[in-house]
Amino acid sequence: MVKYEYMSKLFKRTKILATIGPAVDSAEKIEEIIMAGVNGCRLNFSHGTYEKMDEFISWIRQAAEKKGRAITILQDLQGPKIRLGQIQNNHHDIAEGDEIILDYAMKEHDGSLTFPIQYNLAEKVKVGEPIYIFDGKIRTHVTEILSDTAIKLVAENSGFIMSNKGLNLPDTDFGGDILTPKDLADIEWGISRDFDYVALSFVQCADDIEQLRSLLRSKGSSAKIIAKIETKKAVEDDAYLEKIVEASDAIMVARGDMAYEAGAEIVPIVQRKLVNFCRKHAKICIVATQTMGSMVDSPIPTRAEVSDVANAVIQGADVVMLSDETTNGKYPLETVKELKKIILYTQNHSTVAPIPEDPQGDNPNYDALSEAAASLAERLEADVIICQTASGATARAMASQRPNLPIITVTGDQRVANQLALTYANSAFVRPYSVNCGVDLARELKASGYLQLAEGHDRLRVVVVSGDRDVAGTDTIKLREI
Ligand code: PEP
Repeated sequence: MVKYEYMSKLFKRTKILATIGPAVDSAEKIEEIIMAGVNGCRLNFSHGTYEKMDEFISWIRQAAEKKGRAITILQDLQGPKIRLGQIQNNHHDIAEGDEIILDYAMKEHDGSLTFPIQYNLAEKVKVGEPIYIFDGKIRTHVTEILSDTAIKLVAENSGFIMSNKGLNLPDTDFGGDILTPKDLADIEWGISRDFDYVALSFVQCADDIEQLRSLLRSKGSSAKIIAKIETKKAVEDDAYLEKIVEASDAIMVARGDMAYEAGAEIVPIVQRKLVNFCRKHAKICIVATQTMGSMVDSPIPTRAEVSDVANAVIQGADVVMLSDETTNGKYPLETVKELKKIILYTQNHSTVAPIPEDPQGDNPNYDALSEAAASLAERLEADVIICQTASGATARAMASQRPNLPIITVTGDQRVANQLALTYANSAFVRPYSVNCGVDLARELKASGYLQLAEGHDRLRVVVVSGDRDVAGTDTIKLREI
């Protein structure tokens, strides 16, 4: 039986990331979902105008200020998500054996089996490579490169296609060239909006992350990078996948496209590997797509969805993500409330699964100190761990231990607090640095009622992990009763 204390029951340790879209298109609706438990907001650059994004950003920042809590804002780049162009009457039947031409130079579809496409595939694909159209509904392979702009495919099954539907190319090597002209323009725009994270779609190798990092840094952005894991190439070999995790700040298990690219049956195993690699390297792991998918149309989730979320919590994922549920769903607020309920119940009735190797974050001293602090806090039945951090590294190391109680983080930097909003168990507060800022914050949060005493207790027991900024990094563990 798992022992759990009062404080640890109240704070959800797995965080909620909500994609923002038409279903929450007002300051009030965004405030409602943030108050209900959303820790981060994802802006999906596959959809929407810059004007709309600006509106969303200002509503999110307003709601965060009202709540008095850091909230992450994440820019999700479309990447080489290749789409068809406009199709006459928005519908075209395809029969098995049909020879289809995709032509980048075609401006307008004329009703034939030659279709416009938004990306020049003639430069990338090879004869024999598969191309899946419309979420894998039409499976084809390349039979001929016809010109500098056109390729010929043969349909392997019958069905239909529609305008702007996406293509998956599981075997095509984009040769380190995954940032499209649209992505570059979106990055440029995003830098002036100071996004906390930038998510890169269809990552194929660790170098894709390095390229984005150099680009962001050369333009003065300190945004952290999320690798969306969804290509067959990224997941084929474990050592290769681990290198991508190490190169990134966070990983998104992009289960939707991963299923189309590499097969739905591989998704649960890849998810478990990714959560474990992220925990080992103190990176954030986001479990995405269809977590509560049926709640787009229904006020309650299915049992399978509840189990899926509970499983992510038990695996020790930092974050579960909502997509259609909060962009196009009828019940965005109910979905967030349900998700929070599942997270709290699961964390309060199960330990987090152990991982095969001990966490090895950026700094071995921080790893050792965090391990000691987590074990001390659990042994002494502390109410909360307090972390003083400048860069966020101490808080990340602490979270990688997956302690069975909340971590309250204090930092002088709003950017660090916003980024930590997605880190396991962390609640980040911005306060000026002082040697005792952690204990001072605990006193303040006790006085405000944010940290509550368990019945029969007259003191809050806290373990503080800190350092003296003028001497060294984090080097001290203190036990205090407040
Ligand atoms: C996914 O494919 O699961 C995903 C999260 O990516 P997107 O929503 O950008 O398609």
